[in-house]
Amino acid sequence: MSSEEDHPDRSQIAHEGVEAGGHRVDAQGFRSRLLAWGRDHVRSFPWRETDEPYRLLMAEVMLHRTQVRQVLPVYERFIVLFPDVAALARASRESVHAVMGPLGLHWRIDLVADMAADLVGRFGGRVPSDREALLSLPGVSDYIASAVRCFSFGLDDALVDTNTVRIVGRVFGLPTKPSSRRNRRFRDLHVALLDRERPADYNYSLLDLGHLVCLSRRAPECERCPLLASCATGAARLAVTA
Ligand code: SF4
Repeated sequence: MSSEEDHPDRSQIAHEGVEAGGHRVDAQGFRSRLLAWGRDHVRSFPWRETDEPYRLLMAEVMLHRTQVRQVLPVYERFIVLFPDVAALARASRESVHAVMGPLGLHWRIDLVADMAADLVGRFGGRVPSDREALLSLPGVSDYIASAVRCFSFGLDDALVDTNTVRIVGRVFGLPTKPSSRRNRRFRDLHVALLDRERPADYNYSLLDLGHLVCLSRRAPECERCPLLASCATGAARLAVTA
């Protein structure tokens, strides 16, 4: 395995394949197998049934460092009480705290209230699609901006988080650590692998593969993984157990 800190230029992104750490992946095969798996396995959540930017933005803020099962009831109540930016901007901070309080991370509740005021004040109550505009909002990280751009506006942003980095690292046999999601080399690999024609389906599939198959706290379930044919780690693990 090569060092994660290698210069990003050493990840050679070729037209027909993506190469890093001495391992080459057929990008088109990777995408088509992942998308085929996603058709049957991508999970359904209320925020995945909409492309409304405000709902996506609120869901992504709530999901930050928080379990989906905690977010579900809070999100559904939140959207009923504050169905759009204007309603949220009119609401008292106390009422927003009352709804989001069960999620913890109370600092983000104030950020949500600040965000609503900012959206009304600077963007006419609409969530912008421009990356820099999104990043200028209180509480919007690079990941949240990319998620809103991809899932609401259909833009081909690659989503890079600890789960997707773990998968990509294992596929190429590259070591990862928590800071790897900010590593340029991993970002380049995510961009090179992304399906630009179906970015939302691709990103949902990759995220859910990390929750259902290429696990974090338990051993990855390579035997049933759609990416096994592309994966350096999967090939090594199955060779050892064969
Ligand atoms: S083959 Fe195994 S290690 Fe590779 S991506 Fe799939 S589950 Fe993860």
